[in-house]
Amino acid sequence: VSSRTPRKAIVAGAGIGGLTAAATLRKVGLEVEIYERATELKHAGGALSLMSNGVLALRAVGVEPDFGRHGDILSELSFRTTTGKVIKTLKFAGITAELGAPAYGIHRGDLQRILLDEIGDSKVELNAAATGFEADEDGVRLHLADGRTVHGDLLVGADGIESAVRRQLVGPETARDAGYLCWLATPMYSDPERIPKAYGAHYWGDGARFGIANIGGGRVYWWGTQNMPAAQVHAYRGGRDDVLRTFAGWAPEILDMVKATPEEEIIVVRAQDRPFLEHWGRGRVTLLGDAAHPILTALGQGAALAMEDAAVLASHLDGAPDVAAALRAYEDERGPRIRALIRKARTMSKLEQSEGRLQVAFRNTYFRLLPDRAVERYNRSMMDFSLAGRGARP
Ligand SMILES: Cc1cc2nc3c(=O)[nH]c(=O)nc-3n(C[C@H](O)[C@H](O)[C@H](O)COP(=O)(O)OP(=O)(O)OC[C@H]3O[C@@H](n4cnc5c(N)ncnc54)[C@H](O)[C@@H]3O)c2cc1C
Repeated sequence: VSSRTPRKAIVAGAGIGGLTAAATLRKVGLEVEIYERATELKHAGGALSLMSNGVLALRAVGVEPDFGRHGDILSELSFRTTTGKVIKTLKFAGITAELGAPAYGIHRGDLQRILLDEIGDSKVELNAAATGFEADEDGVRLHLADGRTVHGDLLVGADGIESAVRRQLVGPETARDAGYLCWLATPMYSDPERIPKAYGAHYWGDGARFGIANIGGGRVYWWGTQNMPAAQVHAYRGGRDDVLRTFAGWAPEILDMVKATPEEEIIVVRAQDRPFLEHWGRGRVTLLGDAAHPILTALGQGAALAMEDAAVLASHLDGAPDVAAALRAYEDERGPRIRALIRKARTMSKLEQSEGRLQVAFRNTYFRLLPDRAVERYNRSMMDFSLAGRGARP
């Protein structure tokens, strides 16, 4: 039994989850050291939606970065046909006003800088890949690829979808392919007529989708998806011409923007998740963010869920006399919500990537007929977060 209040946390991975965990754990008095495999802290391209629940979670433990300094507030998102005809518009403004926290569209690099500002002088060591760990009643030792070992009172594996910490905890696994690939880019681009300030739109086609978000600062985030068998996705090497071929005949704002995007700024990503994991940790070791629960992007929730994890983890470790018990309480609290959202994202993703004339017609008609209030209620439930009576340090 671990019987003293933890003083030092070791975090593997300096992504959104690892940096956020460092910020929240510092807030409850822990010293934090982060070990990151990459040789530089460069964001992996693209931007993302940071939903209100992420903002609310951090606020609940007294971490309040100024996301608005770099991100543009998401006020609405329209779902459209391939040619741009509106199927349904989801208005965020009412939901976020009610929740008391905006949702943002933000560049990953800006988000990283904002989070780095929140971790003060915590050590972030680069070129430091975690390879495995040992843990006992007295502490945890994390082994690094260069042969060094670092020590702490607990270990948080925030090392992403291919987490080395997770591999040691649960053994070899294979990520689950969703059956499509994604292209993404965040070029400097301006089209004020068709892509005005704060424009957010998803265009739905037959086994393919395209998304546009004007994230401010002269940049537009776009992504496209295309259904593809898993084996083909793994071997895929296409570029901008493929994107243009896939979306030929779609709304002109899409094609003009893709044509204007430098080829080297287009990234290709496989759509993958993992089934819900029942046990995220053991003893003084736990997982957080994508290491614990990679989720399909359909709900735009991956980053916000990592932030929720970080807030809940810190609230359980705050003054905890028993590290292992605090980590299990964190995992137990997160389980039901994460399990439900992984499933919801899968269902939504399947519907969005519908293939075949009938399926596409059904999907579009179904969404068109859904009452706005039902859509808002569904989204509000995902975008709300509270620490159930705990938290909010001064
Ligand atoms: C195409 C796409 C679009 C998305 N859009 C959105 C969106 O709009 N909104 C949203 O909320 N989420 C979105 N997500 C999900 C979101 O990006 C992730 O959920 C989020 O980044 C998870 O953060 P993380 O820190 O857990 O993992 P990661 O961001 O993957 O960070 C893991 C870190 O660990 C490091 N690492 C890996 N292995 C090791 C090791 N052995 N030792 C040390 N360090 C290691 C990596 O280099 C990396 O820095 C999207 C994801 C994809 C793929």
